[in-house]
Amino acid sequence: MIRQTTATVHLSAIAHNCRAIVDMLTRESTAAGRPAPGLLAVVKANAYGHGAVPVARTLEAAGASMLACADIEEGVELRRAGVGLPILVFGALSVSDLDGVIDYDLTPTVSTPSAARRLAALAERRGVTLPCHLKIDSGMNRLGFRHDNLGRTMPAVVGSPHLKIEAVYTHFATADVPESPFLDEQRRRFERALAALGALGVGRCGRHAANSAAMLRDARTWYDFVRPGLLLYGIVPPPLASSLPLRPALSLSSRIVAVKGVRRGEGSGYGLRWTTDEPRTIAIVPAGYADGLDTRLAGRGVVLVRGRRAPVVGAVSMDMLAIDVTDMTVDPGDEVVIIGRQGDDEITAREMAAAIGAIPWEVVCRLGARIERKFED
Ligand SMILES: *Cc1c(COP(=O)(O)O)cnc(C)c1O
Repeated sequence: MIRQTTATVHLSAIAHNCRAIVDMLTRESTAAGRPAPGLLAVVKANAYGHGAVPVARTLEAAGASMLACADIEEGVELRRAGVGLPILVFGALSVSDLDGVIDYDLTPTVSTPSAARRLAALAERRGVTLPCHLKIDSGMNRLGFRHDNLGRTMPAVVGSPHLKIEAVYTHFATADVPESPFLDEQRRRFERALAALGALGVGRCGRHAANSAAMLRDARTWYDFVRPGLLLYGIVPPPLASSLPLRPALSLSSRIVAVKGVRRGEGSGYGLRWTTDEPRTIAIVPAGYADGLDTRLAGRGVVLVRGRRAPVVGAVSMDMLAIDVTDMTVDPGDEVVIIGRQGDDEITAREMAAAIGAIPWEVVCRLGARIERKFED
């Protein structure tokens, strides 16, 4: 039994994207006479909605050197499924249930003084030295130790015999805002912080900073690892462009379940927000906001039916939406492509996001639990 609305995840596209990124990094680094950075592949949030375990296994086979999750629970899911790559946990660990870090061999981020204290106490209690990554806040003002205050904060972290800093990283706030000079400012702050850490006794360790957008924009942000998420799924962060030969990894499709005529002066859906002053034909598609489709698609989104574009009309409901198929010949059972290719046309997650004032990360991450993921090569 399978619902009409399903997401197909093309694991071969993820493997292809991973290799395309690794090849580009290798080529450009070799040309510049530098070692190529490793790929720290970001699979948080159920691999951006694509399915964490199959995606992680695919990336492992395709050449990623490390994976990254948002929290301990996501890392545990991967370990239980047998994923063997090192797994970095991005999130703040000041109030988490920490034992999973050791029980499942996860690499925690030390991003606040309280996380450092709790991780050191855990390691002492369990009789281990805990490898961890240290996060520097170079201006995003979210997580991490302030770049300009390390003399104060680092002695407690560096002084702990139970924490071993394997890598230092930062995160950029404006990598996808090309007109902002702040990317470069953060990069310089990070460099100064690295020098300061050396003086404070942090030994040689890995460095990483670049999300997808920074990786595309400036090779000076590559350091020892790059940390793309979105690009692995075949989506270029807007408004950037890229010559990488990426393939979208996810398509979302459904089927028409009803076709109906709407007469002059009538409307459709909650609030009758869509009305018509001429006879129209609409089709009902069993996918709604409970499946993660954004209510802003109403009047803005389009889907593909029989190779043509049909606009979403009326309010998006919990379990269904309506499309205008006037002048088309459609029947119940016809395929509806919400994201992906049909015939010669394609609707990408990036296009859908742009149509509704959202970002592509949001579009794919929000795909609901009710949507079955079919994994294909
Ligand atoms: C999500 C995330 C990334 C990946 O970002 P993309 O824009 O999807 O490439 C990298 N680093 C950190 C710390 C993140 O939280």
